[in-house]
Amino acid sequence: MSGGRPREACGVVAVSGHPEAPQLVAEGLVALQHRGQESAGVAYRARGGPIRLERGMGLVLEVFPGLVVPGEGSFAVGHVRYSTAGTSDLANAQPLLARTHLGPVALAHNGNLVESAPVAAAPPGPDASDTALVLAAVAESRAPSLEKALESVLAQARGGFAMAALGPDRLWAVRDPRGIRPLVLGRLEGGWALASETCALDAMGARTIREIDPGEFMTIEDGAAPRSRRLFPREAAAPCIFEAVYFARPDSLVAGSTVHALRRRMGGELAAEHPVDADVVLAVPDSSVSAAEGYAAALNLPLEQGLIRNRYLGRAFLEPDPLRRDARVRRKLAVIPSAVAGRRVVLVDDSIVRGTTARHLIGRMWEAGAREVHLRIAAPPYRHPCHYGVDTSRAQRLFAGERPDPSALARELLATSLGYLSLEGLVRAMGGGSHCTACFSGQYPVPVGVMAGATLA
Ligand code: AMP
Repeated sequence: MSGGRPREACGVVAVSGHPEAPQLVAEGLVALQHRGQESAGVAYRARGGPIRLERGMGLVLEVFPGLVVPGEGSFAVGHVRYSTAGTSDLANAQPLLARTHLGPVALAHNGNLVESAPVAAAPPGPDASDTALVLAAVAESRAPSLEKALESVLAQARGGFAMAALGPDRLWAVRDPRGIRPLVLGRLEGGWALASETCALDAMGARTIREIDPGEFMTIEDGAAPRSRRLFPREAAAPCIFEAVYFARPDSLVAGSTVHALRRRMGGELAAEHPVDADVVLAVPDSSVSAAEGYAAALNLPLEQGLIRNRYLGRAFLEPDPLRRDARVRRKLAVIPSAVAGRRVVLVDDSIVRGTTARHLIGRMWEAGAREVHLRIAAPPYRHPCHYGVDTSRAQRLFAGERPDPSALARELLATSLGYLSLEGLVRAMGGGSHCTACFSGQYPVPVGVMAGATLA
């Protein structure tokens, strides 16, 4: 949240030209459940019929029991929303549907608009999401068609965003000028699919074709090949590096490699930068398993299962109250004492954000009788808030943001030692290329002074 405005850190799926588009979208959403657990929704349209919207609070399977979307159609767009503190509200569940004078349009959005975002003359209210602002601006547009209206509204948008929209007879996709938030195109028998990650395309049985290019605006009409135009002048691409570090699923492809392979390489780089003589390497499940494998393999150390994650809970991350956050980490992660007792342990995690997980787990390691506890983080210190859609709160609440010296961090966490992967090491693991590294480097590729009319605290 910033200025009371919900940020949309989420997953997006869309399908065109398939008789069971709503069901397929639900399959894709389940595969993207890790990107958002607060709400789920599907908007769909049968040829010649109205756009229908089904959405609700909770996991995809709670909103669509049996993964059944009650309705048929050949076009559909869907969304899972990430929980952001204080905004658990059905009104923020997506897709959003607007009935404009140009026709109905449903919009699913992953990301966050900053700067000169499109603000309608009569905005839909002070707490309206970016997505609602875009739809309100489309509704006010004097453009001759929905497509032209969307184009002209989105051409003014800045920030990190990936959106899929559904109109009366087509789908649209758009990605921000720097490609901060992800969006990929896949081919289905007889149709096309869009998703935030390739794991959702796989789940829908679609073949991955390519990423939507930064700044690309794509139109997909029934039966026709997608057409594209560039909405923005070409700028240096800056895909979010945190997608590879934490957010994406290990089987998804990022820049041609699986996220698993990238994380293994991050673990290998981390081992080269911060080796340690130890008895066992443990991963903090699930997101750091690949990095822990890479770390252990590089140092020829055994990797064992020492932590159990309760799979039936949502993510504890955004609990605003620190005490409740701690209780939720305890609920989520359990230590296997026999994997730890009497041993020199390396604990590998992908990130320390507020420090809750690390602090808690290190305490549990000591309780279980560890002789040493070395914490290794397969990314640089997370010091700066994300303004492009990963809701990591404000800078002052970030653990490493307040404490620039890693040895002070280690003392505070009661770890025997602490080693973070350097930014250079992370970029090397990614195979080079340009990325948005703002959360680690503080270098924001898009200015963030003013966010969609709200000033940052
Ligand atoms: P914290 O406990 O606040 O230090 O958060 C770090 C832990 O949460 C690590 O185990 C990460 O794998 C995980 N994590 C990092 N970023 C996020 C995020 N944006 N949402 C949810 N979990 C996260």
